[in-house]
Amino acid sequence: MNSARSIEEVHIRGLGVSPGLAIGRVHFHSELMIEPTLETVGPEAADGEWARFQRAVILTKEQLQGLLDRAADDAGAAQAGIFEAHLLMAEDPALLAQVEKGIRDDHLRAEGAFYRVMERYMAAMRKFDDDYLRDRVTDLDDVMRRVLANLRGEERRGGADFAHILLARDLAPSETMEMDRASVLGFATEAGSPTSHTAILARSLGIPAVVGMHDIHSHVQLDDTVLLDGAAGVLIVNPTRETVATYESARRRRARVDSQLYALRDGEALTRDGQRIVVAANIEVAEEIGSVMGQGAEGVGLYRTEFLFLHQPHFPTEEEQAADYTAVARGAGEHGVIIRTLDIGGDKLPAGADGPAEGNPFLGWRGIRRSLQQPELFRTQLRAILRASAYGKVRVMYPLVSGVDEVRLANAALASCMEELAAEGVPFDPLMARGAMIEVPSAAVLADMLAEEVDFFSVGTNDLIQYSIAVDRVNERVADLYQPCHPAIVRLLRNVVEAAVPAGIWAGVCGEMAGDIVLTPLLVGLGFTELSVGASQIPRVKHAIRTLDAGECRDLVRRSLGLRNHMEILARSRQMARSYYAELLE
Ligand code: PEP
Ligand code: MG
Repeated sequence: MNSARSIEEVHIRGLGVSPGLAIGRVHFHSELMIEPTLETVGPEAADGEWARFQRAVILTKEQLQGLLDRAADDAGAAQAGIFEAHLLMAEDPALLAQVEKGIRDDHLRAEGAFYRVMERYMAAMRKFDDDYLRDRVTDLDDVMRRVLANLRGEERRGGADFAHILLARDLAPSETMEMDRASVLGFATEAGSPTSHTAILARSLGIPAVVGMHDIHSHVQLDDTVLLDGAAGVLIVNPTRETVATYESARRRRARVDSQLYALRDGEALTRDGQRIVVAANIEVAEEIGSVMGQGAEGVGLYRTEFLFLHQPHFPTEEEQAADYTAVARGAGEHGVIIRTLDIGGDKLPAGADGPAEGNPFLGWRGIRRSLQQPELFRTQLRAILRASAYGKVRVMYPLVSGVDEVRLANAALASCMEELAAEGVPFDPLMARGAMIEVPSAAVLADMLAEEVDFFSVGTNDLIQYSIAVDRVNERVADLYQPCHPAIVRLLRNVVEAAVPAGIWAGVCGEMAGDIVLTPLLVGLGFTELSVGASQIPRVKHAIRTLDAGECRDLVRRSLGLRNHMEILARSRQMARSYYAELLE
């Protein structure tokens, strides 16, 4: 194959959704399904076809139950929920009744009758302009392929028996879960998004993965060797020896540094001149609590609860939420957990989302504005959070605050939930702290007024940057404008701290900026006393803090405030970072 073309190193860019480096031969995922025909048979065959179909469904359910058990052991209960949803689809009575009708009334063979029904369901779901529903089509497709394979008595396609990087148009969650870790070193797909179940599973299972990689097939051929960088989101086809050597030595260096830092992960992070900075973790699912605490996290600074709501067919009940939050509170140790109330809306919508599609969803019905308009939903969540506060240190935080009234209304809802629970004799922490996320420019400007209403601020820089510079955080075309060191962002951040300090409340940062160690000097100099970061960054951020001098960082900020260009501010912060922990910046 390769002899017919010159072998060139080609870089294909995508979206890194699960970090890690993998090098190996490619293996193409065969789109195994052969479309069944709508072949008819005589009416006398109907009972036999129906019985054959039922046997295939029973077998499918057994297989899914096996996957579910394995998922619960390997990746945690949230991931097991995916296969629970598949099981529900496989036994949906309405679906089975339609298949039976196709077999008995239209005289179709089982394969054709089943395929026709599934195609109708999927066609209906594809019509929605909604990431969540599109991801559910992948789930339905997965169930369909499994049932059809069982009807045909086929084995599910096994993977290649050599170590490889799997390339696919798309991967179903169950395929990700079934991957043989000894042979699949990593995968890249053309479709996919960071919120798809496949990406979530890849992260939980530690499989390097890149999605949204257009046109893989025209760049890669059978037997090519590729290098996959799941953090940078790049696939390098036929990497030269020098490229591989560069990546390998970077990987070795990083592993060496990581193991040294890991040994120092516990204990507080104090700057050289004694400024204490809390380094907490951001988590998306409760099951992460054990691993983030193992990385040295001082509790959880941001629990994004929406994932509990988005990845199951129904919104969780108060009971289910209370159990989930209590588990995190128990695991989070003395520092506890900051539970952010629901931040659905924007690009994250639950199944069955009603109402018309929004023209500007990021400026629309999301975060606290949605919770305030859905008082029952909000009340259920607040009660669950309060119930968890009886079992560990719990704080609540409101997302997407844009003004004082929203915080007052949210606090009033919280107070009324406290009254209810007290009347019911249910224990909770009556002094539970309340915080506002500062991620809308109006909130940053009004920080002094907001500081009178809450016990802490946590700055969501991901959104603050997008809204302040008017730059969509997921639009590649304007990515060069997305600048954490933009002078306006630095001013807004300073404004937040300057409002917090006289009010006697603390201010932290939980956006991605907090985990970028190039920017640690800037954030320490601005006066933030808490940084909440992704699990893998915890030891790095702690180390960076321990080598810095807070006084020098404050000088850096003083000098930076007069600068007119983000590159100059970034360069100064980087220079200080480099002078103290160059080994972490490679
Ligand atoms: C942020 O906006 O910085 C943040 C932490 O919230 P999210 O990324 O969940 O929007
Ligand atoms: Mg946000």
